[in-house]
Amino acid sequence: QIQRALRSLCIPLERLHIMKGHMMQDMCKGLSRQTHSQAKVRMLPTYICSTPNGTEKGNFLVVELCQNQIRTLLVTLYGDGNMSPQMVYKIFDMPEGIVQGEGEALFDFIAQCVSQFLAETTTPDTSSSEGHLPLGFVFPFTCRQTQLDKAELLSWSKGFSCTGVVGKDVVQMLQSAINKQELSHVKVVALMNDTVGTMMTCCTEGRPCEIAVVADKGSNCCFMAEAYLVETAEETSGRMCVNTEWGCFGDDGTLDDIFTPYDKSVDEESCNPGEKRFEKLVGTLYLGEIVRHALIALTAEKAVFTGSDIAALKEKGAFTIQHVLNIINNEDGMTDVKRILEVLGLQPTERDCGRVQQICRAVVGRAATLHAVGLSAILSYMCQTRDLETLMVNVGLDGELYKGYGRFEEILQGVSRLLSPECLATLLPSKDGSGRGAAMVTAVALRLAALRRAVDEVLGPLRLTHADLEKVQALMRQEMERGLGKHTNATASVRMLPTYVSHTPDGTERGDFLALDLGGTNFRVLVVHVSQEGISMASEIYVIPAAVMRGTGEALFDHIIDCIMDFQMKQNLMTQTLPLGFTFSFPCQQVGLDKALLLTWTKGFTASGCVGQDVVQLLREAAQRKQHSGLRVVALLNDTVGTMMSCGYDDPKCEIGLIVGTGTNACYMEEMRNVGTVEGDQGRMCINMEWGAFGDNGCLDHLFTQFDRVVDESTINPGKQRFEKLISGMYLGEIVRQILLVMTEKQLLFQGKASPKLQTRNIFQTKFLSTIEFNGLALRQIRTILNELDLDASFEDSVLLREVCQTVSLRAAQLCAAGLAAVVEKMRENRGLDQLAVSVGVDGTLYKLHPRFSTNVQKTLKDLAPKCDVSFHLSEDGSGKGAALVAAVASRAA
Ligand code: ADP
Ligand code: MG
Repeated sequence: QIQRALRSLCIPLERLHIMKGHMMQDMCKGLSRQTHSQAKVRMLPTYICSTPNGTEKGNFLVVELCQNQIRTLLVTLYGDGNMSPQMVYKIFDMPEGIVQGEGEALFDFIAQCVSQFLAETTTPDTSSSEGHLPLGFVFPFTCRQTQLDKAELLSWSKGFSCTGVVGKDVVQMLQSAINKQELSHVKVVALMNDTVGTMMTCCTEGRPCEIAVVADKGSNCCFMAEAYLVETAEETSGRMCVNTEWGCFGDDGTLDDIFTPYDKSVDEESCNPGEKRFEKLVGTLYLGEIVRHALIALTAEKAVFTGSDIAALKEKGAFTIQHVLNIINNEDGMTDVKRILEVLGLQPTERDCGRVQQICRAVVGRAATLHAVGLSAILSYMCQTRDLETLMVNVGLDGELYKGYGRFEEILQGVSRLLSPECLATLLPSKDGSGRGAAMVTAVALRLAALRRAVDEVLGPLRLTHADLEKVQALMRQEMERGLGKHTNATASVRMLPTYVSHTPDGTERGDFLALDLGGTNFRVLVVHVSQEGISMASEIYVIPAAVMRGTGEALFDHIIDCIMDFQMKQNLMTQTLPLGFTFSFPCQQVGLDKALLLTWTKGFTASGCVGQDVVQLLREAAQRKQHSGLRVVALLNDTVGTMMSCGYDDPKCEIGLIVGTGTNACYMEEMRNVGTVEGDQGRMCINMEWGAFGDNGCLDHLFTQFDRVVDESTINPGKQRFEKLISGMYLGEIVRQILLVMTEKQLLFQGKASPKLQTRNIFQTKFLSTIEFNGLALRQIRTILNELDLDASFEDSVLLREVCQTVSLRAAQLCAAGLAAVVEKMRENRGLDQLAVSVGVDGTLYKLHPRFSTNVQKTLKDLAPKCDVSFHLSEDGSGKGAALVAAVASRAA
């Protein structure tokens, strides 16, 4: 019988694995907004979003409401890594009956304790509290917390039943009581559960403590979860401590099969049968009872205490956790065990003593094992949700069972290693329990609030309101009109260049064409085959050395011809003279489809002798110099036009082209009657806006922040391409870098230390923004980026870095949308429509690869131009296809 009893208390490993799985499922259920209310593991958000980093400083008052005492505590932190906090405390006994009386009386009593404590205590001067004394309130009851300092009591427990508190904000109640004591400099800043306090005291140098397990009368655990997974709280970035309230695990029956008859008896005799099933297997309030029921059953089966009187065992609560722990901690001999049992009024034989000890060990060992199951569920969950291969984490421990049971730590460590081999938990004892931790929570909360204010001050100027964007839209519209006007064109910042492309494709275009693409990141030569089956092409990328970009125009165009000849050779095209379309992505004054004067270089090109010249002619002259006769240039076009044309081949509604890559620009189909710079009033013509220069006349100066100005000044064209410098890939990374430098200087990031690498111009690439802003699981990649920049970043640094990137890329997308809004609204008005349906062909790596840019553009555009129904198509190789399509239209006309 005794063996059977012991076996029933021993849970096989496979069963533990299954239990861990159930626990993880229940955790997810508790975190999800939809299933939270039915979840057994409550997963309550605590609104504690960070752990101490050692810079916390000042005096912090703590009030802890305990079973029958009030503990007041004054903690002084010196910003020295929390190595040597100073602490003074006092314990007050609660008057008889107060815990069942009126709520107001309870809070008045607490406030009196605070008042008396402060009167007796001198608060050290730390010169950082600004006259306030922040207070952390440890309130170990189940609350619905909606802020760190707002928590509605859901229900009393542990013998408390004060009236008029359930459903009320207990922070508010405490603050009112404190104010009544004329202590209005004391501000209740944070409310927390004791588990959270434990976690907060275990933070050591280097790695924060992110889990706490309290194995006490009840049992509970808290840990730092990814905030976006805590759906019941609004917070989405960073992490938030979640109070698991795992005591109710199993209340839906998932633990029924491991419940022994002794557990069932304990449950039936408890004041809440059927509830808190997990807690009843592991809480010290119940372990003595489980042993007692096991002994009663075994006596009935004549396995122990045969023939002796066990009346003493029949009384509820006769066997306490202290008895159990004393019995099992006696490894040597049975005399102590015998004595303990005799004091209880039993007459054990030597054999009885041994068996009682075995039962006690089994019950307590099981409790430790089940704690390990819970811990391993948390560990694996954290490891998965942080996208880690191995999780290394500190776990704070506290509670009667942990302190009283010698093997608790060993079992917790061993079993959780078996169940979560991918996780490495370092177990740490809590220092001074929840009180000091509460001071830490309060200190961290104040540190974060100060950080938030400072961050908002830096990022504020980069955040645009709807009104700001409407203003940009209106200004763009104004500049567009000026650019189109015959007399205003010369001074407009948006040049509105005619392209001599008057039709989008109709799908009947046919033939083979050569195409050149110059002005993007790569120079390419292509051959494009347009047939009934669609468009196919082959291409080759050629490098334009920096020396050639910035040398003479002749050398640049000679190089281009060399590349074309190489391409024709490789493609076996030497004998044919194919019509050539030239995508040339720089602002040009176009006089005809194949005649275009370069207005200015952009994007790092400065080749001499080109500005003011006809680019097509420059190419033809180079061909002559190289004695290459098989070249027939029929059209020159901007890449925006190429993009619009290539998307237009598939979608006739596509009448806008947009680029957001190295630079940014747009084109669209304008009515000829509005184009003052070209003769004729019939039909439409595509206008290359050259909107990158929008603002060069100063009209956007109000949007420029100190960061934008620094970036602009370090470019080769300061004061030029102002709109582009707020939006495109060439600049966003550098803007972010400037912000990071300022934030570091203000001690908001990287502990105030910027690495020499971070001080290198252009080292922060725009593609980093894409990686960093990628939702959820990118923290590891963020770390990789920061490591490459030699930056020692904390988790909070990573979260702040993400916020900086989001702010910069959001502003870029919104400005781009404001520009587009001006375009689509003008088109709608041109056509006298109430509602315009139009498509935009888009190219550019920033638009295509950034995880939020396109969504942000589209969302903002909907807000700004609600009467336009705009769809976006990504262009596949627009420059090549588009050049061929323009060439096809041109050679058909010729
Ligand atoms: P171009 O505009 O020169 O024709 P792209 O459209 O490829 O060329 O854009 C290049 C720009 O895109 C570069 O300035 C770079 O900063 C940016 N970029 C490259 N990769 C990414 C990425 N993953 N996310 C966002 N931007 C990127
Ligand atoms: Mg491009």
